[in-house]
Amino acid sequence: MNTGDSVVETPAVLHPIRLPWPLRHARPLVLRLGIRKSVLALSTIVVLASLGLVMASNAVSPPPPRFVMFSMVLSVVIPALLAPPVAWLVIRLMFESEDALRVAQRLAVTDPLTLVFNRRHFFHQGERELARAAAENSTLSVLLLDIDSFKNVNDLHGHATGDEVLRQVAAACRSVLRERDLLARFGGEEFAMLLPATGVAEAGAIAERVRATVEALAVPSGEREPIRSTVSIGVACSHASAPSLDSLLAHADRAMYAAKRGGRNRVVNDVVGMQPAATG
Ligand code: GH3
Ligand code: MG
Ligand code: MG
Repeated sequence: MNTGDSVVETPAVLHPIRLPWPLRHARPLVLRLGIRKSVLALSTIVVLASLGLVMASNAVSPPPPRFVMFSMVLSVVIPALLAPPVAWLVIRLMFESEDALRVAQRLAVTDPLTLVFNRRHFFHQGERELARAAAENSTLSVLLLDIDSFKNVNDLHGHATGDEVLRQVAAACRSVLRERDLLARFGGEEFAMLLPATGVAEAGAIAERVRATVEALAVPSGEREPIRSTVSIGVACSHASAPSLDSLLAHADRAMYAAKRGGRNRVVNDVVGMQPAATG
């Protein structure tokens, strides 16, 4: 079980950033040495390279003798003055650009309100998990969750309180899910969960725990009674032969609407639609 301390998913499920190879190797080295030693090392390399070049040039085409010492002193002094600030700047820029890339990557997959994954990342990861399930002949389950009568929360308590309810429902879902499960806000007051290597019975049990956890939630609302919410959840499970993520979602959606029609605050398993396709 996830501790539920944070709604943010583990970075392990994000795609690693592929930096160009010099940066990939430079970063761990700089981290090991520290910035001062790195600047010193880089500056020393530049000074030695400059001195080496001047000495080689002097050897190939010797200048007048009075210029030999002069050129060698210049080849050391100029880079010794310029290299440290330039090296410092390069190292700073390298770290800042990598951090910016990391932040941009996280923002691209995150729902800004609830901090769980967004719909786009759900589809991206869903396709990968479906392909993996087919390759490993395992099952993949999807839960679609819709908060019941959520419009009333906005109407009675205001949009900001509605937002807080969304955040807390997301956190409640995350607290029930396992590390490997993926939670995404699908839109509005709908969330989707991807449960890899999970059969229909286990998915139904997890959905029931999500439902009960949300039901037990009490979101403070100033002077008024705390807000209590319920959710309707549709469960669909793909066998290895399930055709696509879209069809899996369609089945979960159908089950979720069956839960609404059945009176809300319930879990419905879509057992009819997702039978393994006949072979041969
Ligand atoms: P049902 O039980 O049938 O799902 O009823 P419902 O009221 O939950 O469904 P409906 O689709 O009528 O209303 C959804 C509401 O969710 C309407 C919309 O204002 C609200 N909503 C959608 N996105 C947000 C959001 O980001 N923040 C807040 N506070 N409300 C949102
Ligand atoms: Mg809805
Ligand atoms: Mg709703």
